[in-house]
Amino acid sequence: MNAELDLALERRIGKRSAAVIEKHLGITTVDGLLNYFPRRYMSRGELTPISELPLDEDVTLIARVLSSSTRTMQARRGTITDVIVSDDDGQQGLRLVGGRDFRGKVPGTLKISFFNGYKAKTELLQGRRALFSGKVTSFKGQLGLTNPDFQLVDDDPFTDSGQDPEKLAAMPIPVYPATAKLPSWKIQKTIATLLETLDLDALPDPVPTEVSAREGFLPVSRAYRLIHVPESADDWRRARDRLRYHEALVLQSALARRRAQLAAEEATARRPVGDGLLAAFDANLPFTLTAGQSAVGQTLAAELARDTPMNRLLQGEVGSGKTVVALRAMLQVIDAGGQAALLAPTEVLAAQHFDSIRRSLGALSGDGLLGGLAGGSGVSVQVTLLTGSMPTAARRQAMLDAASGTAGIIIGTHALLGDNVSFYDLGLIVVDEQHRFGVEQRDALRAKARKPPHLLVMTATPIPRTVAMTVFGDLETSTLSELPKGRAPITTHLVGLAENPAWAARIWARAREEIDAGRQVYVVCPKIGTDDDGDFSPGEAAPPGAEGEEGRELASVTAVVEHLLAEPSLAGVPLAPLHGRQEPELKTETMAGFTANRIKLLVSTTVIEVGVDVHNATLMVILDADRFGISQLHQLRGRVGRGGLPGTCLLVTALEPGHPSRRRLEAVVATTDGFVLSQEDLKLRREGDILGASQSGGRSTLKLLRVLEHEDVIARAREDAQHIVGGDPLLAGHPELADAIEKYLNPEKEAFLERG
Ligand code: ADP
Ligand code: MG
Repeated sequence: MNAELDLALERRIGKRSAAVIEKHLGITTVDGLLNYFPRRYMSRGELTPISELPLDEDVTLIARVLSSSTRTMQARRGTITDVIVSDDDGQQGLRLVGGRDFRGKVPGTLKISFFNGYKAKTELLQGRRALFSGKVTSFKGQLGLTNPDFQLVDDDPFTDSGQDPEKLAAMPIPVYPATAKLPSWKIQKTIATLLETLDLDALPDPVPTEVSAREGFLPVSRAYRLIHVPESADDWRRARDRLRYHEALVLQSALARRRAQLAAEEATARRPVGDGLLAAFDANLPFTLTAGQSAVGQTLAAELARDTPMNRLLQGEVGSGKTVVALRAMLQVIDAGGQAALLAPTEVLAAQHFDSIRRSLGALSGDGLLGGLAGGSGVSVQVTLLTGSMPTAARRQAMLDAASGTAGIIIGTHALLGDNVSFYDLGLIVVDEQHRFGVEQRDALRAKARKPPHLLVMTATPIPRTVAMTVFGDLETSTLSELPKGRAPITTHLVGLAENPAWAARIWARAREEIDAGRQVYVVCPKIGTDDDGDFSPGEAAPPGAEGEEGRELASVTAVVEHLLAEPSLAGVPLAPLHGRQEPELKTETMAGFTANRIKLLVSTTVIEVGVDVHNATLMVILDADRFGISQLHQLRGRVGRGGLPGTCLLVTALEPGHPSRRRLEAVVATTDGFVLSQEDLKLRREGDILGASQSGGRSTLKLLRVLEHEDVIARAREDAQHIVGGDPLLAGHPELADAIEKYLNPEKEAFLERG
């Protein structure tokens, strides 16, 4: 705890200002406001080109008054003051240091209207410069601002009160994330007041002095001053570098501490036995493991055999064969007397895993009735499915089998996290398709074992290194970088119905060709019915720009099924719908029918997004593909081309060419490299979506650190954090860092402190 930082704001800036800040920014403490950083800086010499102002956004700009006129309104009482401003400064004959040269260009002008603007009328006289803040609108082609906040900029070197004009002109103006009601400079003034009243030297510094010395950092007090009140661009850059590192170090130390805590835990060692299930499984494997699968397998085998818990992330492209790697790890644990749980994100996927794992175990999978006597080798394991929608009796039996130890492998959805589910001796947890499961859920499952279990998290979405270091910073990482041999390429085409409506019919003729050749087809829709808002999977945000376009009717499973039943080119083709609102038995039956090639064409929502594995499916048609995110599309198309047969994916869109949402589709068409796509995806998403709630358990968002941009800062901070925590696991010698971590992990705690 730091007395200065945790102080209620009103104790430093007064009740009135504190109330305004709380109302508009939701900030109540000194710490909160001090860490409310400018989004960018403008230099006073720099004139924002009016022609480049974005419409409909809150902007802050400096401009000079060309003319001003006030008239009385006709319809109601009052006056309108129209002020025309320009970013052309040349004619004023003023010296501008570091200014832009607008000569030779047509200067942009902006009309600013004030209703009953007495202050505007008296202050905004011709030739004056001012900062304006408001929302830019366009009326009959003329850019405008209505009733913006404004403040005269006192930078006229001829009237200035003795300040060095060069220096003044060079002084950057911080631009804070503002609201319409609380403009940037009011925030700036309030923070300036705070800086005056604060004992800056009493601020804690979580960065160790050795590190500061090595990096040549500003002292923390100086950094806070200069990030808010810089005298030069160099000032704020240095301040920002320092505070950004500070942020990275706190985050990485939190993760390093968590890793250290996990590593210090005692787990049950599950040593390989040589003649058990795993050996029998390997002997019957119908293919050879890829080099990557073998290497990762060895890493896992060694870690499972240790008496500290394994905490590992396994990344690998769709189809790279993660499941067999996970299954082999599970068998090692079962051979050593433990149980393994496999957690899947959807019921369909859990059921698929259940079927395919039992299938690949063959005779090794005892069904309980045979009581472990099945198979030539004399060993077997019971595989049990446990999902939320199972009939009560079956679920109760599954829970019993998990608790008694009868079940060796328990496969399920988040139902496995339920309070009433317990295990006899849970040795390994495998989490499939991690992007749906956060740290909290991992911890909830971990809590189900008597001793901390080993953990393997699998994801098909390749994660850039820095994201791995932040979001999954508590896990070690392994990657499967090659696909098993015989995997045929997937060709992806963009089908733009806007430019070529006739293609709509062609799609179904193409599907028919595939089916006539004995193959199967997926058709994916963004919605279930005609009256719902879409079926974006839980935890998966709708992609940017997905909402509220044109109000056109999106393809829904029910409408498309109806349409296809009447489609001449598909006459006689057995087809079926599949979506999340169906009864579980129906879903299972449909999936089984598709797997057995009785159903030729499956119309579904994204329930087939992950993991579903039907080798005979070769064509995927994604309708209104613009409604899906890049990773989703990449995952979806990974469902075809699995059985050595070349796959085709058609991304169908009704959007006009050039529509921003078509960028995503073009990216997916352009490459099948998941890594490139995930980078692209992250660029198009907002930072908060990347980190989400899974961010090491903390709920606060990053301020100065950008996960994609600041890879080197994150890497250095990670190394430093590892070093600090390694030498001082409890951070006894680093109390200020320990406090900062605490604050980061529990930001809401601050709200309860000292408020009067
Ligand atoms: P994912 O990594 O997407 O989860 P899966 O584990 O579902 O991939 O594997 C995809 C398919 O590849 C499965 O049918 C699986 O049996 C098969 N497979 C896995 N490893 C190999 C291998 N080494 N050689 C050939 N086929 C493999
Ligand atoms: Mg998988």
